[in-house]
Amino acid sequence: MNEKLQQLLSQMDGVNRQLLQLLGERARMVNEIVEEKKSQGIAEEESIGDQQILIELAKHSLAIPQGKKAAETGRKLLVSRHHKNEDTIIHIKGTEFGGSSHVTVAGPCSIESRDQLLTVAVALKKAGITVLRGGAFKPRTSPYDFQGLGEDGWKIMKEVADEIGMVTISEIMTPSQIDMAARYIDIFQIGARNMQNFDLLKAVGQTKKPVLLKRGLSATLEEFILAAEYILYNGNDQVMLIERGIRTFEKWTRNTLDISAVPLLKQETHLPVLVDISHATGRKDILLACAKAALAAGADGIMVEVHSNPEAALSDAKQQLNMDEFSTFWKGLRDSGLYH
Ligand code: PEP
Ligand code: MN
Repeated sequence: MNEKLQQLLSQMDGVNRQLLQLLGERARMVNEIVEEKKSQGIAEEESIGDQQILIELAKHSLAIPQGKKAAETGRKLLVSRHHKNEDTIIHIKGTEFGGSSHVTVAGPCSIESRDQLLTVAVALKKAGITVLRGGAFKPRTSPYDFQGLGEDGWKIMKEVADEIGMVTISEIMTPSQIDMAARYIDIFQIGARNMQNFDLLKAVGQTKKPVLLKRGLSATLEEFILAAEYILYNGNDQVMLIERGIRTFEKWTRNTLDISAVPLLKQETHLPVLVDISHATGRKDILLACAKAALAAGADGIMVEVHSNPEAALSDAKQQLNMDEFSTFWKGLRDSGLYH
């Protein structure tokens, strides 16, 4: 397929999408008109009977043919390389995701205090890391576990990051948290447990903030990229994907790091792909090997949890590196020659 044809097809996709949106809007208006007529006691006329035809048209225009994988009909997906071949690069305050350099996202599982976050952030920045992670609204398995500091946590994060000059990532769990989060956080993280929270995907899709989308606990790659598609479809193309391990029968690790997800996601989509080595493994002793594997497989970067005092951490105590352990890990990764 030559470039001109590719361009035309992609332009037509754009027109299709606009048409669909208009058709959807029209269908909603028709419903309102019907309701309004009912309430005013006006008899229904035939004139809006074409609604059904339009709905059918909308249903068939962009839908994936039954029995086919989205990847097979890739041209239709906005996340797909068939739609856009060049890599998406996300620029935030001088840091690039998906560009020619690797990126490391590091920080504690949960923001616990100003002291804790500042200590970690200062050490990370000194090591050359520019992206700070930390949860304030935590999706905990048990309701009795620490749920996060909420808005106070984000206030601390903004203060610390502004002071040191770092980009921030934190998880949002509901559409209602978006406005608040936007005041404090640079990148919205959608956690594994919310990968298919479609209202949340639609809502972040309507913002202009970059989104880090985690792979669901048991999500196939197909489901993962379709979740990302929701965000792009709703208007936000600043999306990065992160493999964070999937559930298998294996018990020696918290999850199973699906390393094959990295080249497949890079091949199928144009989005930056990261690997969260901490949640994928749930342990500290194999982090360096997993980080090297991620980079060798083509990941654009990694995420790793670092805490000032992991033994006393209020969440994920077992998997967080302390500062010394992080230094050793970081040196090992830099010395490997894989990180650039
Ligand atoms: C996290 O990164 O803090 C987290 C909860 O991870 P996940 O959603 O991948 O379990
Ligand atoms: Mn964690």
